[in-house]
Amino acid sequence: MNIWCVGRNYLEHAQELKNPIPQEPLLFLKSGDCLVHGNEIQLPTWSQEVHHEIEIAFQFNSEMQFEYAALALDLTERKLQSRLKANGQPWTLAKSFTGSCPMSQAYKLANYGGLEVLEKLEFNLKVNSELRQKARLTEAIFNPTTLSNFVKTHFPAQPGDWLLTGTPAGVAALKAGDELLASWGQIQHQWRVLY
Ligand code: ZN
Repeated sequence: MNIWCVGRNYLEHAQELKNPIPQEPLLFLKSGDCLVHGNEIQLPTWSQEVHHEIEIAFQFNSEMQFEYAALALDLTERKLQSRLKANGQPWTLAKSFTGSCPMSQAYKLANYGGLEVLEKLEFNLKVNSELRQKARLTEAIFNPTTLSNFVKTHFPAQPGDWLLTGTPAGVAALKAGDELLASWGQIQHQWRVLY
C-alpha cells in the first residue's frame, strides 16, 4: 500500500512556509508502513520539531475511484525538512519516518452524501481545545479529482492506496501530552501525543 501526499495545496499554507504556489500538484510519498491507526501519536525519539498537518485522505477502491475517506496527519519534522529543502535534498527523512501518518478509521463517502457534499464541509484540527487549522476541500488549489487523475497518470497507484490532499495554514509543533481533535462535518477523531 502506498501513501501519496500532496504539498502546498492550500495558498495560505504555501505562503506561511514561504514556498512558491505550485503550477501542478507537488507529490511526495510516505511509506505505506507509516500509517498508524488508533488514538496515540508516538513521536520519534530523535525528532526535535514535529509539526501537525491535518489532511483529508482518500482511498482508491478496486476501480481506482475514491470510495473511503479519513482524517489523517501528515506529521513532518520541520527543522529537518527546512534543512533538506535548503540543500536541495529529498524530504524522506522529514516526512516518511516511523509513525508519521496517524489516521482515523475509513469512512465510506456514500454514507455522508458523497464527495460533492463532504468537499464543502469544513475540516479542522484543535490542539488542547485551541483551533489551529481549518479549511474546506473546495478551497484547495487542486481538487481531489485533479489529484486523483494526476496520481493515476504518473504513478503505479494501486487499489487500497491512500492519497493525502494537503494541509491548510496553521501548522505548528506537537509536544508530549497534546490532545488533538480533528473534525470534518460529523466525522471526528482524537489523538494524544505520547512523546
Ligand atoms: Zn502535508
